Amino acid sequence: MHHKNYPLKNLNSFALDVSAKDIVFAKTVEQVKEFAQNLPEQFYILGGGSNSLFVENYQGTIFCPDLRGINVNDEDNNFHIHVASGENWHELVQYCLSNNMAGLENLALIPGNCGAAPIQNIGAYGVEFANVCDYVDWFDFQSLKVVRLPAEHCQFSYRDSIFKNALKNKGVVIAIGLKLNKFWQPTLKYQGLNELGDTPSPQQVFDTVIAIRESKLPDPKVIPNAGSFFKNPIVDHQTFAAIKAQYPDFPAYPAKGSDMKLAAGWLIQESQLKGVSIGGAAVHKLQALVLINSNNATGKNVIELARHVQNTVKKIFNVALEPEVRLISAQGEQRIEDIN
Ligand SMILES: Cc1cc2nc3c(=O)[nH]c(=O)nc-3n(C[C@H](O)[C@H](O)[C@H](O)COP(=O)(O)OP(=O)(O)OC[C@H]3O[C@@H](n4cnc5c(N)ncnc54)[C@H](O)[C@@H]3O)c2cc1C
Repeated sequence: MHHKNYPLKNLNSFALDVSAKDIVFAKTVEQVKEFAQNLPEQFYILGGGSNSLFVENYQGTIFCPDLRGINVNDEDNNFHIHVASGENWHELVQYCLSNNMAGLENLALIPGNCGAAPIQNIGAYGVEFANVCDYVDWFDFQSLKVVRLPAEHCQFSYRDSIFKNALKNKGVVIAIGLKLNKFWQPTLKYQGLNELGDTPSPQQVFDTVIAIRESKLPDPKVIPNAGSFFKNPIVDHQTFAAIKAQYPDFPAYPAKGSDMKLAAGWLIQESQLKGVSIGGAAVHKLQALVLINSNNATGKNVIELARHVQNTVKKIFNVALEPEVRLISAQGEQRIEDIN
């Protein structure tokens, strides 16, 4: 299905009033192939739009791989679940739980489509997509074939994968394969979950994750946003030690080697930026890591606000914040530094 001048307001969780010059929806692998055979010069793949910020009207073609279907194979010690890219992630988590297949409950309530889950290796409450991924089915735009990439080839790391790097714009995820161990062990290391005792049920973990998220994160349907706007920065030990000397209680977690991962939300909060607004965009009053469309914001308002947050945090803590959200200008994806 192909449309021209298509409104994107319902296709981005910031609810920005923008449009796309062209949009193509694919419901089958055959339709994905048709798109690939006539590949436009400029295109952007869109799932649920909950990690994409359209800075202005997009002048290329939006491609929506809206394939559906879930298949389960019960084998020895694992459930193998094959899920088409257009299925909703949270509905998949609920489906697994109600069919006694545990392992996804820490990832409950993450908005968006299953096809986007491997792209930034979604993660929450101590579990990442990489922990449950068996394979990713990838339609390669050059060979016009589906390639099955085992999880170990996907180069998953914190909010990163091969799909954001070497394979960017070279194809599209058409399905994901999950492997859930029947001998489920809860992951409870995060605050809130560690109060559940040693043997909670998957349902209890699921309910607690939902309760924590609902108490902390604004619902995008009510207050439009794209979740965490910035990644948690990873800094060297020297930078970490300098901040720790001044703020003994500040939260940080070990990363690779002697590097430390800092809580971006804490840095923004301590920079007194909660509630600060530019145009119709604001830093959420309760959750500093979330930028919101509070009053008919434009994409440019959000970018200006994000830059203000970056500059303030840099000045106070000497730490650079990098957006987690993908930024799309008229001509395509851009780094925040390159946007006019
Ligand atoms: C309230 C809220 C809370 C959130 N919480 C979390 C969280 O806890 N953890 C977390 O990791 N994220 C979180 N996010 C971010 C977001 O939910 C995830 O990044 C999610 O995977 C995005 O899915 P989507 O389909 O909406 O992606 P989109 O915004 O549509 O796309 C995201 C990226 O993936 C690419 N893409 C999408 N589908 C495909 C495909 N089939 N093939 C190839 N590329 C594709 C797009 O080109 C784009 O670059 C949150 C967002 C919101 C709004």
